[in-house]
Amino acid sequence: MNNFNNVIEKIRELFHEPKEFIPLHIPHFSGNEKKYVSECIDSTFVSSVGQFVNDFEKSIAEFTGAKRCVVCVNGTNAIHLAMIASGVKENEEVITQPLTFIATVNAISYAHAVPVFVDVDKDTMGMSPKSLRVFLEQNTEIKDGVCINKLSGRKISACLPMHTFGHAARIEEIKEICDEYNITLIEDAAEAMGSSYKGKHLGTFGLLGTFSFNGNKTITTGGGGAIITDDENLADKLKHLSTQAKIPHKWRYEHDQVGYNYRMPNINAALGLAQMEKLEYILKRKRQLALEYNNFFTSLDIDVFEERESENCNYWLNAVILKNQEQQQLFLTELNEAGVMCRPIWELMTNMVMFKNCQKTNLDNATWLSHRVVNIPSSVVK
Ligand SMILES: *Cc1c(COP(=O)(O)O)cnc(C)c1O
Repeated sequence: MNNFNNVIEKIRELFHEPKEFIPLHIPHFSGNEKKYVSECIDSTFVSSVGQFVNDFEKSIAEFTGAKRCVVCVNGTNAIHLAMIASGVKENEEVITQPLTFIATVNAISYAHAVPVFVDVDKDTMGMSPKSLRVFLEQNTEIKDGVCINKLSGRKISACLPMHTFGHAARIEEIKEICDEYNITLIEDAAEAMGSSYKGKHLGTFGLLGTFSFNGNKTITTGGGGAIITDDENLADKLKHLSTQAKIPHKWRYEHDQVGYNYRMPNINAALGLAQMEKLEYILKRKRQLALEYNNFFTSLDIDVFEERESENCNYWLNAVILKNQEQQQLFLTELNEAGVMCRPIWELMTNMVMFKNCQKTNLDNATWLSHRVVNIPSSVVK
């Protein structure tokens, strides 16, 4: 009598779980996690200084191809730090997308900057370069090399696209437009660890890219985040800001600006280093699952998000596109009631009370997606 019984059965079959609850995404620990955490405890260096922090940073830099990596306590403050370090100031504007997790926009607010929303593309769920260009052409002028929003009179200092569920936004086109308008590009790659476009890791296209290692992400440190960059000075600045802006000295407490206590503790980095060793395996298994989902939903005439050409997706969360909002609600109700966890894509940020008065473009694609997309269980199958 359920409309989506076949979907429920298929997901239960894929996860070899005929009866029990199936979560949306749980961590996969099968490597050196316990060993490294235990070593970390034995060393007593469990806090903000230690070898695991340095090794984890090096491992992320190597994997992503970025020159430098600075880890911090979560993905939200990674974006906050990226904003401040790149020079985003109070009362300046940051262009972002309305279809994202709240952290993206909260981080803009922490920097006392003002978000402006442009639409996403239907096929990437990431920022639409077309919408970005139209917004800039119609609303801005360049004065002394600075992009000014003619409506608000404020400087537009940064652009913060997000790579939704690990799929690449049209990042090359976005970068080109940002360069043209003198706007700093920062990528919220929180969901994109292990994803690349034309062989280049996501997060390395902009001046800065940020990741999250929250428990529900592709790899986890419990809580954690990272910022990558090719700019050595900026990396030093990020590290300085994340450690209370303390000037290194054997015993003196001297600080040269208002800093933050954002440095990732060594015990989290111990977990992270072990997770990095398993990343290739995790990505391989997630790709297999995505392929099985793709075959199955195609046979049901339900669309799923696939890789675009030249894209290599981490398939963090698989997503189906239902025919309309009614089907979306039905799908959510039936699967969740059957103990198969699924979640709708986010409500638009422009519908939240804090951001509803922010400037925005036509958001047809974001609205269309928010009424149709549902995430389905995507953990590594045991
Ligand atoms: C997870 C996530 C973040 C950061 O989250 P934390 O929980 O702070 O690590 C930021 N942006 C997006 C889009 C995310 O999905």
